[in-house]
Amino acid sequence: MSKCSQCGVCCRLFLINLSEEEYRSGRYDTMFDEFVSDFEEAEMVGANILAQKEDNSCIYLKDKKCSIHNFRPQSCKNFFCDSDNLQFQSMIKKIKDYKNEKA
Ligand code: SF4
Repeated sequence: MSKCSQCGVCCRLFLINLSEEEYRSGRYDTMFDEFVSDFEEAEMVGANILAQKEDNSCIYLKDKKCSIHNFRPQSCKNFFCDSDNLQFQSMIKKIKDYKNEKA
């Protein structure tokens, strides 16, 4: 089982796409929501993406922690920065590069 170091970097660097179910739940603040009326339209314009703060970090990132941890989107649950999953390797590299730049 992976253990998150809670550095919060993934929540700063990546856009989080909501599933249709998550989007329809109305539970999450999303981007450009006022311009769309359904999920298909939302996907086309990226309105199924979690809203971001001015510094581009996730709207739910507070003090390096997820303020909605128990009901964070599935995309967030799936990602771990020590994953062997090939689909995450470019994201993991971005996190390492980001940390190296800040070091
Ligand atoms: S919902 Fe939580 S885990 Fe997902 S990006 Fe935002 S702060 Fe991070």
